[in-house]
Amino acid sequence: MERTRKILIVEDNPSNVVLFKDLLEARGYQVVIANSGFEAFDILESMIPNLILMDIQLPGMDGFSAIKAIRSTPTFAQIKIIGISAFAMESDVVAAMEAGCNGYITKPISIRTFIEEVERHLVDTERSIS
Ligand code: MN
Repeated sequence: MERTRKILIVEDNPSNVVLFKDLLEARGYQVVIANSGFEAFDILESMIPNLILMDIQLPGMDGFSAIKAIRSTPTFAQIKIIGISAFAMESDVVAAMEAGCNGYITKPISIRTFIEEVERHLVDTERSIS
């Protein structure tokens, strides 16, 4: 039986949290929610997810700072991260990749693109583990 994949959603907008959580849980993923970068680090102390969905516009520590901090922590450095942002210019995507994102999704999300992007990165995870 396939093991359950864990996804950490870091998002401060309540309706996005509900949308992302529902979409992922409906596909059998185990979802954990953080409403800020600081909360994400608290969660990472006790759980290493297969994937992190990181909102870029967050109060306090923004998504880029959180991603850079994750990438500079050896225990977390290999976790797949997809950035999510309303910023949709090419330069925004480049900045996200340079900060350490593996992928990037723009808001408002297309449900199909969202799921495809999540699944694509989880497949990569499977390959790198086995
Ligand atoms: Mn936000």
